[in-house]
Amino acid sequence: MKTIAAAALICLLVALALPLLLAPSGQQEASPSPAGPSADAETEFTVLTGGEVLTVTMADWLPGVVAGEMPALFEPEALEAQAIAARSYILSRTRTINASHPQADVCDDPSCCKAHSDEAALRASWGDKYDEYWAKMLSAVRETDGQYLEYGGEPILAAFHSSSAGMTEDSGEVWNSLPYLVSVSSPETAEDVPDYVTTVELSSAQFESALRDAYPYISLDADPALWVEGTELDSSGRVASLRVGGQDIPGTEAREIFALRSTAFELEYSGGVFTFTVTGYGHGVGMSQYGANVMAGMGAGCEEILSHYYPGAELVG
Ligand SMILES: [Zn+2]
Repeated sequence: MKTIAAAALICLLVALALPLLLAPSGQQEASPSPAGPSADAETEFTVLTGGEVLTVTMADWLPGVVAGEMPALFEPEALEAQAIAARSYILSRTRTINASHPQADVCDDPSCCKAHSDEAALRASWGDKYDEYWAKMLSAVRETDGQYLEYGGEPILAAFHSSSAGMTEDSGEVWNSLPYLVSVSSPETAEDVPDYVTTVELSSAQFESALRDAYPYISLDADPALWVEGTELDSSGRVASLRVGGQDIPGTEAREIFALRSTAFELEYSGGVFTFTVTGYGHGVGMSQYGANVMAGMGAGCEEILSHYYPGAELVG
């Protein structure tokens, strides 16, 4: 009986093992596997969009943020860095009350939180490339599922901007100083970035009008050539302050007054015209998106890109 039982057992084992032994290699990988748990699908937060407060999951919302913030033609590793930066930003916002909209964690206004593009806007913008580009956005989010940057045990306020001027900006020059938002080098040049250097020309009357909207009582000489007394640069080479009519105007304020793309500018006066020559686009703090794309093009992975632009922050999740 023992022999028969042992023989039967061996037959059973062989029968069970045979399909595995005969299966072509790789078949197990190719067979559909149940979807693993997605951290993004389980992360909920509230967004203010179109005047409404919606509860969304990170998996639903984040691809539209990446699409709203970064060109679809960018390198996959740059898009992944963007997904992680935006995820970190949103998570940090869920930990505090936002004074601009206490009823929601984040909004879709890029001047307040982060941009978000919905399907209709993306179809209009991408046309027949919609399926291809949307797949890139989904991939950037899924490949980094749940990953975010933290500092001191908290998700970071991962600020980012379009392009820098050789160096990124120290957060202390724009907002409060944060240890992971310090000035670092950024590799993009005019060859990489459309409209990298722009000019804004204003007649002396236009210059004065814009200035007086913000400083109604500023005292200006009869000769416009004497209005601007100098600029002070910060450690990143951007304008920290502009001295006009005896008044020191912060560079960030001058950027708003004269509608400049960044505070990395030079100002000249000649023949009745003030000319601003401006480099890069955005506040300059945190990751430069074009810089990230240049790094990715040179072979950097998303982790390397993020550790460059957010020094000291740790990738977790
Ligand atoms: Zn907001």
